[in-house]
Amino acid sequence: MNPRDSRTAVTALLADRGYRLTAPRRQVLDVLVASRTPLSAAEIHRRLENRRINLASVYRTIYVLRRLEAVRVTDAIGAEQRFELADPFSAHHHHLICQDCGRIDDFEGCPLEERVLRAVNRRVRRSRRFRVVQHELRLIGACADCDRGRPDGAERRP
Ligand SMILES: [Zn+2]
Ligand SMILES: [Zn+2]
Repeated sequence: MNPRDSRTAVTALLADRGYRLTAPRRQVLDVLVASRTPLSAAEIHRRLENRRINLASVYRTIYVLRRLEAVRVTDAIGAEQRFELADPFSAHHHHLICQDCGRIDDFEGCPLEERVLRAVNRRVRRSRRFRVVQHELRLIGACADCDRGRPDGAERRP
């Protein structure tokens, strides 16, 4: 889903559930749609074009968007919660998390083969009677900046 479609879809969802598109909601949504990484509430707040919207109202807006399942929280390592548009309001992606600086980047697409996914889902369904409907994958390691200067071969192939 491209940014414009994401924006339209979330706006339609808000209207459909009886939520007005207030200035904070519109602007928080704009920031989330434009970002290629999950953002903390403080980061969203810093990117708002209207400086009079306060942090509390950013939190309230995130709360509403999470209740509507348009936004999800993604966990970082030893950092604040970060938020992003949920599936299906954004393209399917996963996260690269740096355990040194805590930075999180989107990793576009899905590295899991359909065949592997199906096998995992079948196994979970059989052993735990749990029906999988979606998945998240966190790849944890060192970002390019933090990894610089480290001897080659520090990452071992599995
Ligand atoms: Zn890093
Ligand atoms: Zn995936």
